[in-house]
Amino acid sequence: MPPTDSALDLPLDTAVVGAGLGGLAAGFELQRRGARVRVLEAKGHGGGVATSRRIGGYLFEAGPNTVPAGARNLRELAGRLGLADRLVAADPAARVRHLWFGGRLRTLPTTPPALVTTGMLSLASKLRVATEALRPWQPPGHDTPEPSLAELLGERIGAEATDLFAGAFVRGVYAGDHRRLGAKSAFPRLWERLERHGGLLRGLARTHGDDGPPAPGPDVPATRLLSFPEGLGELAGALQRELGPDLLCNARVERLTRAGARWRLTLADGRTLEARTVVLAVGPRASASLLADAGLPDAARALADIESRGVRLVHLGFAPGTLALPPGFGFLVPPPEALARRGSSTTPPPQALGALFPSNLFAGRAPHGGAAVTCFFPEGWARGADEQQRAELAAADLAHALRVDQVPTPEVSWCLDWPAAIPQYGPGHAQTISDLETELARAAPGLALGGSYTGGVAVDQVLARGRTLALRLAGNARGVPST
Ligand SMILES: Cc1cc2nc3c(=O)[nH]c(=O)nc-3n(C[C@H](O)[C@H](O)[C@H](O)COP(=O)(O)OP(=O)(O)OC[C@H]3O[C@@H](n4cnc5c(N)ncnc54)[C@H](O)[C@@H]3O)c2cc1C
Repeated sequence: MPPTDSALDLPLDTAVVGAGLGGLAAGFELQRRGARVRVLEAKGHGGGVATSRRIGGYLFEAGPNTVPAGARNLRELAGRLGLADRLVAADPAARVRHLWFGGRLRTLPTTPPALVTTGMLSLASKLRVATEALRPWQPPGHDTPEPSLAELLGERIGAEATDLFAGAFVRGVYAGDHRRLGAKSAFPRLWERLERHGGLLRGLARTHGDDGPPAPGPDVPATRLLSFPEGLGELAGALQRELGPDLLCNARVERLTRAGARWRLTLADGRTLEARTVVLAVGPRASASLLADAGLPDAARALADIESRGVRLVHLGFAPGTLALPPGFGFLVPPPEALARRGSSTTPPPQALGALFPSNLFAGRAPHGGAAVTCFFPEGWARGADEQQRAELAAADLAHALRVDQVPTPEVSWCLDWPAAIPQYGPGHAQTISDLETELARAAPGLALGGSYTGGVAVDQVLARGRTLALRLAGNARGVPST
């Protein structure tokens, strides 16, 4: 006999599958609107990749470390949760970022003047960057396929600057390849600026003010980075507390089937629930397998085709006085082909995609004088190595990047694997999702897709998506047309 739970006997308005930030935000919003909702989470806790862990005097993030201060959804949610006063801005010096180039770390040029004076670009490449504003951008016609980010930027600023800077950035954010991401699908705001201003530098030169009322939290420029003293996990923790018994942990949804006008969700332990509407706030693969059960094979195939990249994290905590970090946010390593073109050296590049220096960003991330570092490696790195060996390999790789002779021994370490955690918004992705939504609205009313492959991977976008879906479903519950 499967275990029964009387709380599950009554049909729900909405079942949310997955309690990452997207699912928690959707559940919270629905709960606030009086819907009978359950958020179902496979693991023993919610938060998904957005959880924080304190080890001794160090604080590490399992996934996201920061959001920009322009992240209005997060700030407003923090305000509603009573967390506005807990939001902290990163040290302004976090603006400084480093790039591996020519066998060592160099300061990344982040302004147009710095770009045209940097030693990292050839003269021809600098000329191409400097004259970008003189070449008006023509958006591709409607019947032209969406360009990749590499194609779009390559046309504007040349392949050299694109591969070096955009290549490194995409490795850092998506663990991905800038040649495989759709310019419009993955970077809609950049695309919008190009459309509006007819050029990249013209678009970047116009700082768009935030027209809305002041957002809760510190009054800092939109580009400053934010978090909470105990990490972004504070947000997930507050949402879980608000949801209370409406969040069911250790509740993996294994099957989704139709039950008349409702949906039936079968959990791994055999329990079942019925709900009028369902939000799938999980990745494309998990969503695909549920849609296949639900008799939606075409939609399932479309989701299964979405590529996701994984990342391996090694958090390292160095005792006071053992490692001096350069100032700033951290460093990125450009793709090998970019370094082969320019910036190659007899010194091989680090194996990491990049590393963050959390103790440079926020107080309390390491004991006074100590250093907290998070190294990001590609999926499959150090295969077969145990946790201790991975920490040693990562420390050696970091020492190599920082050009430190003696490999420092970390005082604490924490290794994490996130397989297939970051969906890759390839060319045509946004259109695929839009078509899928149209098809589901027709063939499977009440079923909504809410994973980070739908409305952007960034925390603020995932929260926005969760809220939007909740408002849509709550509106429908009262007979209000969806928007
Ligand atoms: C390493 C890393 C670093 C990042 N850094 C940043 C950053 O600095 N800033 C930023 O803005 N964004 C960052 N991101 C992106 C952002 O954190 C994520 O896109 C976002 O948190 C994903 O939230 P989610 O709710 O969609 O998914 P997830 O957090 O993946 O949550 C999905 C949840 O669903 C559960 N689940 C899966 N299948 C089932 C099932 N069948 N039944 C029930 N539950 C299920 C999982 O256990 C999980 O808890 C980062 C991402 C990663 C991986």
